[in-house]
Amino acid sequence: MAVQTVAPAADSTTPDLGPAVALSCRECGARTPLGPSFACPECFGPLEIAYELPSGDPEALRKQIESGPTNIWRYAPLLPVPADVASHPGLNPGWTKLVKADNLAAELGITGGLHIKDDSGNPTHSFKDRVVAIAVQAARTFGFTTLSCSSTGNLAGAVGAAAARAGFRSCVFIPHDLEAGKVVMAAVYGGELVAIEGSYDDVNRFCSELIGDPVGEGWGFVNVNLRPYYAEGSKTLAYEICEQLGWRLPDQLVIPVASGSQLTKIDKGLKELIALGLVEDKPYKIFAAQATGCSPVAAAYKAGHDVVRPVKPDTIAKSLAIGNPADGPYVLDIARRTGGAVEDVSDAEVVDSIRLLARTEGIFAETAGGVTVGVLRKLLAKGLLDPAAETVVLNTGDGLKTLDAVAGTGPTATIRPTLASFREAGLA
Ligand SMILES: *Cc1c(COP(=O)(O)O)cnc(C)c1O
Ligand SMILES: [Zn+2]
Repeated sequence: MAVQTVAPAADSTTPDLGPAVALSCRECGARTPLGPSFACPECFGPLEIAYELPSGDPEALRKQIESGPTNIWRYAPLLPVPADVASHPGLNPGWTKLVKADNLAAELGITGGLHIKDDSGNPTHSFKDRVVAIAVQAARTFGFTTLSCSSTGNLAGAVGAAAARAGFRSCVFIPHDLEAGKVVMAAVYGGELVAIEGSYDDVNRFCSELIGDPVGEGWGFVNVNLRPYYAEGSKTLAYEICEQLGWRLPDQLVIPVASGSQLTKIDKGLKELIALGLVEDKPYKIFAAQATGCSPVAAAYKAGHDVVRPVKPDTIAKSLAIGNPADGPYVLDIARRTGGAVEDVSDAEVVDSIRLLARTEGIFAETAGGVTVGVLRKLLAKGLLDPAAETVVLNTGDGLKTLDAVAGTGPTATIRPTLASFREAGLA
């Protein structure tokens, strides 16, 4: 079981981040005090949060959660945030709909139950509001005054909005070639938005340089120096899915992969629920979804490699276009360990799947949702996903931000406002 516990430090300088007690290296296990660090001082491995999670009666914890607010803060006892987190100004994301997708299930021949976890319902219309909410608490705790990030689009908007609400300055960085909907969302909240002539991976490298420079002093980069905190926000997807299923684990999950952070933390969240006794232990399979035009993890999976070779992204699924995914090897490990798989779909399949989800369930997904639904179909066709098992597919963003993907979608007919004209159009 991966839930780690250590005795809390006795001195009063330990920041109040609830059940979080230390940073722990995901490679060598070395412990570091809670702070704005992201690399292990021993081996430079990535750091994650170690907890002292609530022990004792699972029933009492379940009741406490159920009586909490209808947003991610109902899970505050399991997150690196102070207990009074809900009283600070924030966007309070989460508790998005888990949609029973019977029409899509029927169309695809799924008999075991299909659900769409629809994170387009978050305040800035993507799952990124979850991770940013946790990073904001860490930024506040560590005394940062500026919020920043390197973004494939959605994160920039989530940071801009959260900064506006919580009273931070923001300065966010994006690749210069993002969708108009993402650029407007990143700029409209009034923070600074800097477009960089390069790919996301170039943007990310630039931000790492900025952190080491006096210019970046006092800046909390949510997905760089606050990454261990930020990443934990994705656990709330696991918690919500299980609670919304009636405190049960699904059999199979299909999750999109950019850096792979979200997928690895959903797995962490599921394992915590088992360890805490909040759900009954049973096997579950995690399937990872990428767009073929940026599928370094799927390529490694299919080749049987443990190492993920960076690629140069070329896909309409720009929110997933990370050519050098930091959590790639962990994604491989989770897919293999749980009996899942990593699969990819072409841009044409992404568009087709956006339309399929919209037509069957009334959910308009961004390209990332087209990727997960497309991969769901492909896994079924390949016999890798069990149609008789209960499946949850993530839609992580809103189709209004990637309208170009479905360009050409428009009126069935344009007519004069007369009955004759309507009849002429053949629709009467
Ligand atoms: C960022 C993002 C993801 C995945 O993020 P990871 O880097 O893998 O954690 C998935 N979907 C959307 C819409 C995103 O913006
Ligand atoms: Zn280490």
